[in-house]
Amino acid sequence: MTIFEKIITREIPAKIIWEDDDAIAFHDVDPQAPVHVLIVPKKAVARLADTTDEDASLLGKLLLIARDVAKQLELNSGYRVVINCGPDAGESVPHLHVHLLGKRALAWPPG
Ligand code: AMP
Repeated sequence: MTIFEKIITREIPAKIIWEDDDAIAFHDVDPQAPVHVLIVPKKAVARLADTTDEDASLLGKLLLIARDVAKQLELNSGYRVVINCGPDAGESVPHLHVHLLGKRALAWPPG
């Protein structure tokens, strides 16, 4: 069981800011920007590479949640949405999640 599943089941605490039957959003414990939120599907799929075509609506929903949380947190001057997939991208938790980063200017290209 990953740490995100333990957050979903409330075995460990997190600063949860949004939740429904399909997904949960909470503040990252090691924020890389003044706002750093993780949007996590409750379905246990390890990473984007392991999703199937049946996950299309779930994947779309994660982006819509990112949009809504960005609005809720007033990221009015912009934000970045990131999915790290696999070792080259620095994935550290093998449970699909979308990072939402904002409230500072973000460099491009990423490191
Ligand atoms: P990734 O490197 O894309 O797999 O992202 C995993 C993220 O999960 C990192 O940004 C971590 O800081 C974050 N993280 C790990 N443990 C926790 C936790 N208990 N609560 C909140 N965020 C966490």
